[in-house]
Amino acid sequence: MCNCAKTVEESAKEKILAQLPEGSKGLSVELQGFAWLLGGSVSMKNKLNLHIEYEAPKKKGGFILKKQDMSMIGSYCMFCGEKYPEAA
Ligand SMILES: [Zn+2]
Repeated sequence: MCNCAKTVEESAKEKILAQLPEGSKGLSVELQGFAWLLGGSVSMKNKLNLHIEYEAPKKKGGFILKKQDMSMIGSYCMFCGEKYPEAA
């Protein structure tokens, strides 16, 4: 599996670091929207959040707003297009 997410994150950090005002410290750069999957090895896959909302009927009448979030994991790398291996 490719290592694009890590590479992109590291190169972004280098570029940002070079542009910070002198004396800055504690830089943290994190590429978000990725799922860390632990299998045979640690891998990162693109992840989108699926936000769901609906109104469920109450027993005594009326409706209550329900909210739910689900993770949708991509099948391909968004940087190089390589297909991710099937989850073991
Ligand atoms: Zn890739």
